[in-house]
Amino acid sequence: MKRKLTELAMWLQADGQHMDHVIVTGASIDSRTIAKGDLFIPFRGEQVNGHKYVEQAVRQGAAASLWMKDEPGAPEGIPLIFVEDSEHALQQLARVYREELSCKFIGITGSNGKTSTKDLIAGVLTPYFNVQKTEGNFNNELGMPLTILSLKEDCEIAVLEMGMSGYGEISFLSELAKPDFAVITNIGEAHMQDLGSREGIAKAKFEIIDGLQPTGKFFFDGDEPLLRSLVKEHPELHAVSFGYGDKNDLSLLSTVSGDEGSEFHVSGIVNGEFTIPVYGAHQVKNALAAILIAHELGLDETRIVEALKQSELTDMRMQPVVAANGALFINDAYNAAPTSMHAALSFLKESALRKEKWVVLGDMLELGDHERNYHESIAAQLSTIQVEGILLYGPRMKWLRDELVKSGNDTKIVWSEDTYVPLIDTLKTSIGKDSIILLKGSRGMALENVMHAVLDA
Ligand code: ATP
Ligand code: MG
Repeated sequence: MKRKLTELAMWLQADGQHMDHVIVTGASIDSRTIAKGDLFIPFRGEQVNGHKYVEQAVRQGAAASLWMKDEPGAPEGIPLIFVEDSEHALQQLARVYREELSCKFIGITGSNGKTSTKDLIAGVLTPYFNVQKTEGNFNNELGMPLTILSLKEDCEIAVLEMGMSGYGEISFLSELAKPDFAVITNIGEAHMQDLGSREGIAKAKFEIIDGLQPTGKFFFDGDEPLLRSLVKEHPELHAVSFGYGDKNDLSLLSTVSGDEGSEFHVSGIVNGEFTIPVYGAHQVKNALAAILIAHELGLDETRIVEALKQSELTDMRMQPVVAANGALFINDAYNAAPTSMHAALSFLKESALRKEKWVVLGDMLELGDHERNYHESIAAQLSTIQVEGILLYGPRMKWLRDELVKSGNDTKIVWSEDTYVPLIDTLKTSIGKDSIILLKGSRGMALENVMHAVLDA
């Protein structure tokens, strides 16, 4: 962006000081990563008061800063805009800037697969359009507006991830971003604690239609009955479904995993064979959303095939990592909830990539009252997979260990409450070129450390 500070003050309907001739080219909330020309946006957190860093931010190149009116000691001699509340101001700046941009906006929500789908959509469009996407996981009420403010004026497509933990949040983000296309990847169990039921979760995600452009399109997981019934209640919606069933507008016929990733066939609005460089039927399903959007934007099948197979995904989502000895790690250690756990284990079960299968699982966090049950219920699926060993990490995984033992599962099981060492030692002495090792656990469990320790050995 390139805007006069006085113009931004107008967007905010706010007064300021020393604003003349100041040009702003971006926004930042972190004084450590200020870029020249940024508008610094100070927040008052529990630990830190960002106002303390305003002068430092300007010394480091910030063109100006916001300043909350009730904060004493505004520094003299620095270009400032005085606002009631920094968070609201950030959102308002993004709201106005979004209106000024002519690029198409794509908003993505869902319990799992937002980041992966964002990467796949951006991946398939990047060779043909000027595409920008949410960096990392900047998907909340601060991250999304910051992403919008980082968009270049000549951006043609903006791919935005929208996260939530309760009602009203996706509605807010969607109203702000006003997407031309909206996607719901799936409905899982994350945030059960806050929303009470899967119905509640579906409703909260469905809020993404609140800001959808009247001519916009809504792409959704058509295998999820909860979404189907919400769609039925909105006949005005241009809804397009994707998934396994042939009732979907784009349906997945078959998937084969090879060394290149997953190859799959689709039929419906688009027909053909595609490849993505990651594993798992759930990632293939995310790719369906990317295919539909690429098609909607006028790309033909050949162009979609070419771009999709080269798309780059963020690390730790069903990411293949080959060790020096040929062992294949499937690093899905970014996060875990029952749905994505089930998806990852289904992949392992079907996989013929290596003969000897191992699972390394860490606790699933934030599951609320039923957490014990969710951990125990992994046992049934796990018992249908022929594995060499089950390595478990974290206090909650004891429930799974006990359930496996109770059910008479005689696979080698290693459970460790709070150290990776027994898991690392087991893998170091057991795996080789015929092994495939699935790593999955909540972010807090950081299971990738197990893989790194084995790879570095
Ligand atoms: P977050 O809420 O943390 O931002 P996210 O929705 O962005 O997560 P990803 O980071 O893409 O999701 O993936 C998180 C985990 O869910 C990974 O383990 C990934 O393999 C798995 N996953 C991805 N897509 C799906 C899907 N459609 N269904 C189930 N699991 C999925
Ligand atoms: Mg994400």
